[in-house]
Amino acid sequence: MQAVRQPVRFADSVLIVCVLLLGICVGHPGLGVSGEEGGREPNWAPILWSSLTPYDLPHDGYPFETEHFAVYSNTASERKKEFVGEQTERAFSEIMSILHLETTDSFTFLSHRPVIEILLIEAHWPEWGGFAYHGGFLLSPVACNPYYCSDRVIKHELMHVVGFLLSGPGSAIGMIVDVWFDEGLAEYVAGAREIHTMPAYTHRRSQLAEVMDDFNPVSVHTWENLNASATSAFGVYAYELFELAVRYLFDEDGLAVPVEAVTELYVDLHEGYSFADAFERQFGLSLDDYEAQFNERMLDFLP
Ligand SMILES: [Zn+2]
Repeated sequence: MQAVRQPVRFADSVLIVCVLLLGICVGHPGLGVSGEEGGREPNWAPILWSSLTPYDLPHDGYPFETEHFAVYSNTASERKKEFVGEQTERAFSEIMSILHLETTDSFTFLSHRPVIEILLIEAHWPEWGGFAYHGGFLLSPVACNPYYCSDRVIKHELMHVVGFLLSGPGSAIGMIVDVWFDEGLAEYVAGAREIHTMPAYTHRRSQLAEVMDDFNPVSVHTWENLNASATSAFGVYAYELFELAVRYLFDEDGLAVPVEAVTELYVDLHEGYSFADAFERQFGLSLDDYEAQFNERMLDFLP
């Protein structure tokens, strides 16, 4: 049931689910074709978003570079690119610390330089705020306007990227972790803690009835598990429950597994374990059992 590594299945379609309010997306794109960049030669190649996202977006070829990031844009000022690079470096330090990672030695970079791409999009782009792929992420004006960049969106997208980089090249062509875990972890690391009580939990579940009868976050293994026609309630509400499902794994009143188990899980994925196997290895609980027992466990966990 917990199918993993589905490169063929997803090869021609890019899966995008957006959180309209937060504007958070993650893509697990297929093998695309690199777009030609017009005008000046980029400083270095390849630019991954052209091949690993559905978007062939322009940029001026002159990124602002920090230790771990190259911030591209077609229109943003140097100051803005620098600001975003610095903000993202701080977010990166926090994520590395949470995961107990000291270096990027275990990352698999697909470009020839070990830096993470950021593309700042300043054109009108209403659908989402961020979009992560194996080697970087896109930030739209929803998340990053001239005056402010959302730390939450940056951390969310960056956690996806770190997950991709830790789990190896396979994650560039297909989804290798369950949606609930991928999005829940991104929200957890970004600091979201929305559901704290049983009434809040049951209320959210009832609001998600349009997406899935008796909504169980852990049963959302792939985006296809969700009702594609559902729109209004899905984004924020489902992500809140995904985060809850991830928080339970680490919380001392839940499974109390150290957060750095996530790093080991991604290493397992890199070594070829399925998500279900890696999950059971790291959390000592089978994915099937977690899914079956989720509601019962929440009854114990939430006041
Ligand atoms: Zn996401």
